[in-house]
Amino acid sequence: MRAVDIIARKRDGVMLSAEEIDFMVQGYVADTIPDYQVAAWLMAIVLRGMDRQETIDLTMAMVRSGAQLDLQDIAPFVADKHSTGGVGDKTTLVVAPLVAAAGIKVGKMSGRGLGFTGGTLDKLESVPGFRSDLSVDEFQSQLEKIGLVVTGQTAGLVPADGKLYSLRDVTATVNSLPLIASSIMSKKIAAGANGIVLDVKVGHGAFMQTEEDALDLATLMVQIGTKMGRKVRAAISDMTQPLGDAVGNALELKEAIDTLHGGGPEDFRRHCLTIASQLLLVAGAVQDTAEAHNDLQHLLDTRRAWHKCEEWIAAQGGDVEYLEDPERLPQARFVRDLPAPHSGYVADLDAREIGLTSMLLGGGRAKKGDVIDHAVGVVLQAKIGDKVEKGQPLMTVHANDEGKLAGAQQRLLAAYQWSESPVDAPPLVHRIVS
Ligand code: URA
Repeated sequence: MRAVDIIARKRDGVMLSAEEIDFMVQGYVADTIPDYQVAAWLMAIVLRGMDRQETIDLTMAMVRSGAQLDLQDIAPFVADKHSTGGVGDKTTLVVAPLVAAAGIKVGKMSGRGLGFTGGTLDKLESVPGFRSDLSVDEFQSQLEKIGLVVTGQTAGLVPADGKLYSLRDVTATVNSLPLIASSIMSKKIAAGANGIVLDVKVGHGAFMQTEEDALDLATLMVQIGTKMGRKVRAAISDMTQPLGDAVGNALELKEAIDTLHGGGPEDFRRHCLTIASQLLLVAGAVQDTAEAHNDLQHLLDTRRAWHKCEEWIAAQGGDVEYLEDPERLPQARFVRDLPAPHSGYVADLDAREIGLTSMLLGGGRAKKGDVIDHAVGVVLQAKIGDKVEKGQPLMTVHANDEGKLAGAQQRLLAAYQWSESPVDAPPLVHRIVS
């Protein structure tokens, strides 16, 4: 088999066999197929698509690229959640300790920022010392000891996704249903979770722009997971505007800390309760969402979720003093309010533009291996439906470079659309697929 022939077949819209897909994936991991050929193959997949069987074959080839955990001896039930990626989506930082505090073991592989979207690992690495490169043994032992672990792709699990993910990030090959589905589901399957909740984002700030595409992706992932014997549910949730107020790594971590203390923005808090409730349902720990909300609220009120978060960060080497005093987390040199250019109601707020601007400020990567700046980003002070007076701050921009700050301000202003009459905020969750 030759990579060039497989690229050509996909370029011409031919369905690939399981062997061809496996050849490309294992060859990339073994460094026998170079970046440029895999990038061409990925682009052919983006343009030509893959059918359901090819997507399942790609998922399984990725799973086979590394170790596959069998967590049966550690816990009879391990839960996992995954977002398809959004702007301001720091849900894992709250939901993982919240669900673990409810007594359900959470073992999770997370990703880094991709395109205009942020990544959980980048946010967690705002804490000095935090390690996201756990080995398989470390993953299992932490899961057993404290019931909560979140690691990156370097742990011997799905090394194919680690490589493909960063190549896609810089070759404009992120936005593809089969590539997203296989990337997410391979990690879920390899990490051994029995119950999985997928948070499928839809809107400007998501890879899926229409509810129809989001539903296709959700259904495809639920089918792959179910075929592999896992209990899977998906929430299709809104990403028209950023989730919560903060966008940027350390800024989002601070917002998650506030939320675990019972504060935080109302939309973000409600979203965390929805996703955590779905995890409790998948685990069979509650009868319905009302019971789940009650239990979860209690875990927030009593700070048990917060203490679980501290235990988790410490177990992965993070210095918890930074969590206790978040002002010690990376801070930007320039912090400027952006005033509203006129009075009115916020009619739209383009999450993608906000995510891109945060990335350009240094909060994301423009090319493979770029070092990110954890301090930069924006904190929104007006979102869709809010009434704003001229001159009132729309958001606060955190930058480490004055030139980038000026450019960011222009882009950020353009992300807002205005109305003279009242506007409804979009729903947080469009539907649940189970
Ligand atoms: N999240 C992932 O893990 N992979 C993708 O491809 C997109 C979002």
